[in-house]
Formats: sequence, C-alpha cells, structure tokens
Amino acid sequence: MTDAPDYGFDTLQIHAGAAPDPATGAIQTPIYQTTAYAFRDAEHAAKLFNLEEIGYIYSRLTNPTVSALAARITALEGGAGGICCSSGHAAQIMALFPLMGPGRNIIASTRLYGGTVTQFSQTIRRFGWSAKFVDFDDLDALEHAIDGDTRAIFCESIANPGGYITDLDAVAEIAAGAGLPLIVDNTSATPYLCRPFEHGATLVVHSATKYLTGNGTVTGGAVIDSGTFDWTASDKFPSLSQPEPAYHGLTFAALGPMAYTFHSIAIGLRDLGMTMNPQGAHYTLCGIETLSLRMERHVANAKAVAAWLEKDPRISRVTYAGLESSPWHDRVARICPKGAGALFTFGVKGGYEACVKLVDSLKLFSHVANLGDTRSLIIHSASTTHRQLSEAQQVAAGAAPDMVRVSIGIEDVQDLIADLDQALAIATA
Ligand SMILES: *Cc1c(COP(=O)(O)O)cnc(C)c1O
Repeated sequence: MTDAPDYGFDTLQIHAGAAPDPATGAIQTPIYQTTAYAFRDAEHAAKLFNLEEIGYIYSRLTNPTVSALAARITALEGGAGGICCSSGHAAQIMALFPLMGPGRNIIASTRLYGGTVTQFSQTIRRFGWSAKFVDFDDLDALEHAIDGDTRAIFCESIANPGGYITDLDAVAEIAAGAGLPLIVDNTSATPYLCRPFEHGATLVVHSATKYLTGNGTVTGGAVIDSGTFDWTASDKFPSLSQPEPAYHGLTFAALGPMAYTFHSIAIGLRDLGMTMNPQGAHYTLCGIETLSLRMERHVANAKAVAAWLEKDPRISRVTYAGLESSPWHDRVARICPKGAGALFTFGVKGGYEACVKLVDSLKLFSHVANLGDTRSLIIHSASTTHRQLSEAQQVAAGAAPDMVRVSIGIEDVQDLIADLDQALAIATA
C-alpha cells in the first residue's frame, strides 16, 4: 500500500508503506539485512546516483525495511516524505542539518526533553550553531528572539516532562510570519494524539524509541517533512534553494515537496550516517501496528492516575493537562483532541527526599530513564535526566527537585494506583 490517503489512522498504522514481499509474498515486511543492492547495469547505477531513478544503493542511505517504516510514519503524520534515524537525538540533528550553518541559531522552547536542552545548549555549539531558549507561552518574547541568523523554531507538542501543551497554532503563525520552518518534536503525543502539520508545523521529529515502538526495545528516530515550506522564498536556506556543491550542484528545491527528504537522504544520511538499522525498523513496524490502541489505554490510565493523585493529601500538585485544573487544559481539545498523553509530573510533599524514597518503594513502576513503554515508568528528573541543568533550568523545564515524572503504561489501572498508594505511605511516613 503506497498511496491511499483516504484510509483511517488504524488502517494506515498497519498497512502504510508495506506490501506483501515481491519475492516471497511474506506479509510482514522482511528484515532486509543487507548493506548493498546489485545494480541491473552501469546505466541503472548512474541513474540511481543522479536521483533520476529511485532505488536502493547502500543501506547507509536507504534500506527497504527502514523505508517502509519511514513511509508509514509519514502517512500517519500526513507528511510528504520522511527518513528514519538511529535515535531521536540523531533525528534532531538531521532535522536541523539542511537548514543550518555556522553562526546560525534556532529558537527553542524552554520546555523540552532534558537531553534536548543539553544537545541544543552545549553540543550543537561545536558546529557553530546555537539555540535561544524562550518560554513559548510568551509569544512576544518568541517573536523578539528571532534575528537575521535564525533558521528554525523548535518545540515539543506535548512537552516532556511536565505534560505541557504547546499552542502550536500560535507558534506556527509567528514562524510563518518570519519565513521560518517550525520543527515539532511529536514524540510524547504521537501522530495519534497530535498532528502538528495540521497546526502549521513544517517538520516533525520523533524518538521512535518511545510510543511508536511502544515496548522499550528499540533506539530510533524519524524526521518527517510536510512538503509545504517554500525553501526558495528567501535566501536563508541555500543548501535547499541553491545548487548544492555537496551533491554535484543539484538544486534540491527543484524536487518540489520531496526536496527536504531527498536532501536528508542524499547528503544528511550519506555524510552524517545517523542511519536506522533494519532490525530496529522491524521492531518499530511491529509496534506501530497497535499505536492507536495503546495510546487510548495510555491516556485512559493516565487520566485515572492523575485524578487519583490530585485528590491525595500527600501530593502537592499534578501537572497533567488532561486535568481540568491544568492551565493548559483548554489546549487539549484543539491541539491533541484524543487526549493529553500519558506523561506528567507530580509534586510530593516532603520534597527531594520523599521523591527518592517514593521511587525506591514502588514495586510495579520501573525506575528507568525512558518513557512511552507499555510498562509504567517513574523517574525523579532532578536527580537523573535533568541533573545537568541548573535548578532554575530544572524549574523552567518542569523538573523541580520535589517533582517526579511518570509515564503511565497500559497495565490495570487499579494496580498502578495501589502501587503508588503503598509507596507514598512509605515515602511520606
Ligand atoms: C527520548 C526523547 C528524545 C531523544 O530520543 P532518543 O531516541 O533517546 O535519542 C527526544 N525528544 C523527546 C521528547 C524524547 O522523549
């Protein structure tokens, strides 16, 4: 199944990008565990290298199993094209790569996955890139942070760790006004809960490590392009709008809606090599078949646990946007109508010490630095994932020292509540 835009989400998550294997009829996409692909003849090889004919050359660029997954995520997001990468963090570098150059910057939300804050505030400086962090609820500050060297705006749809929901429509309007692409990390929401392209996003990035695979077996990522941004409208994106010396002078913009995706394959994957492996793509293809079913249960369980916690006197606050008490509750219906996800934080009376004791006393929740697993997970962000940040950065990111983050799984919800109840009794004794 390749082009069938009329199918619903539940159909696409099983069929998009896949067809029975032409060699064997195998119904599940085979793991094409191969590095290279035989050319029919010298002319075929030349055409492939010239992008005149689409086909497989070498698995650092494309591989049939990985391509099936890229096509499926692209279909679920409603994009024009996409690539898969070795991790979510690789996807973020890959997403920025066609847009950036030394001296260029991005404007990023303060509410991001901790590892992304570190990647953007420290590591990308080695490339001569930089990030300015802004509270995306302060639209004036966002607009004023943009300067002549800005090349992208970056945020998460449902932001880690606090379950904050970004007003994508408002941010996209500012990005469009400045002639800049909006990149949305849609990891915590997944395309089932939020479709950023419908709110004006240009690119979507994913950590496939999380809900897309769903069971904590894979490290992977994806970059999906809407195909709607006009790279030639300004001189800001020469790698896409001008002849590209890194690909014998090809002007990628001439490829229309596939310009960005072909650039990502022909230059990004070719030269940076942040490629997903076929085995990983296979696991994610299997996991993604049940994405909507899992997300429905994740959301239902998260709502029930958050509501229970909010009423408990041992808890100081719960940040789940699915609760009516959340300042972002009114964004749920507009931005993520099928639910506010399953990731949130809560404050424990007793602060840092009580949080650490809570994490140590839980029996069913796993204490891990991950999210989006079938299992329920908990972490004390301030002492782990957000440890590299200053206390002010921790608070801004929604990871204050008295908060724990949970990723609610798809177990029986009464068992999750009972586990929290017994552990809170120990933690706050
Ligand atoms: C996990 C995560 C990442 C990084 O993904 P990896 O696959 O671990 O590299 C980026 N953004 C968000 C929102 C995440 O949850």
